[in-house]
Amino acid sequence: MSDRALTTINELLAEHLIAPENAPTLTKVADRYAIALTPTIADLIDRRDPLDPIAAQFLPKAAELLQLPEESGDPIGDHVHSPVEGIVHRYPDRVLLKAVHVCPVYCRFCFRREMVGPDGDGTLSADKLKAALAYIREHDDIWEVILTGGDPLVLSPRRLTAIMEGLAAIPHVRIIRFHTRVPAVDPARIDVALIAALKASGKTTYVALHANHPREMTADARAACARLIDAGIAMVSQTVLLRGVNDDATILADLMRAFVETRIKPYYLHHPDLAPGTSHFRLSIAEGQAIVAALRGRISGLCQPSYVLDIPGGHGKALVHPNDITAEKSGDIIVTDFRGMPHRYP
Ligand SMILES: *Cc1c(COP(=O)(O)O)cnc(C)c1O
Ligand code: SF4
Repeated sequence: MSDRALTTINELLAEHLIAPENAPTLTKVADRYAIALTPTIADLIDRRDPLDPIAAQFLPKAAELLQLPEESGDPIGDHVHSPVEGIVHRYPDRVLLKAVHVCPVYCRFCFRREMVGPDGDGTLSADKLKAALAYIREHDDIWEVILTGGDPLVLSPRRLTAIMEGLAAIPHVRIIRFHTRVPAVDPARIDVALIAALKASGKTTYVALHANHPREMTADARAACARLIDAGIAMVSQTVLLRGVNDDATILADLMRAFVETRIKPYYLHHPDLAPGTSHFRLSIAEGQAIVAALRGRISGLCQPSYVLDIPGGHGKALVHPNDITAEKSGDIIVTDFRGMPHRYP
């Protein structure tokens, strides 16, 4: 096992993660979209299984070269809602702060795949970070700042501390949230210094862990999350519903239970975005609803995420759950129970 990230087609070949005959095509994919697998993730891949759900998330595929007309480099409209570089302000009470465009792994379905990567927008310069913090300071409706990117936990503890100290000085910011894959894909990174940096604002801090398959919740990943939670950081999860990875109620049930066992409250199950070259991952909303309906009867309410779609064009998120109630012409309401049986109300 390599002790650093795999980022090139040659490295994937050397690790027997891709077949030599596919290398020319995959080189074209690599020219367009960044590749990175941490040692933890490379190690989790079952090389004998051509349909391995970990491989499907991180190894490049020829299908990525197919771009459909409805797919876009900015599928959820980050750009139209960006008042200053590094800030996305779509909802009145919260902003995204994108301090870095690098990730420890590059997910093949990423909705920001045109913006992230080693050749992407990099790290926000000191001046631009200052301007982003000034924007947050000037807008006193901003109650929550969500650090995303890229993956904010690739930043050094020193840089994170500087950002947290900047936010600490803004009284109307009450909540700081990080969206990250690091606790699962590089658990050793969650050490004393990083945790101290995350807590340096003194404000209520949440970490939203992005994980899509129960095998990502290894013993090391769970221990890394426990270190965060024991330090007083609250955790929620986010999962992308992906064909060939987790489009199955049993797999999602195992994943949601793994989160809850780790004291992570399942938050969002995202319908995949219309990112370029990702149609092989997408299922229909109806297929997603059938899976979510099957989850409802199967697992504890604590384990239920909200199924959401980011409306293309930057209109924000919408709940796309299957409907449990339908209205009759008479005005009565029919409520469907978890077995699928209808009941009249009142
Ligand atoms: C998803 C998103 C958020 C966070 O939304 P929540 O529903 O609070 O998780 C905030 N801002 C933007 C621009 C987003 O895309
Ligand atoms: S970690 Fe997040 S931002 Fe980075 S490639 Fe994966 S989905 Fe995209």
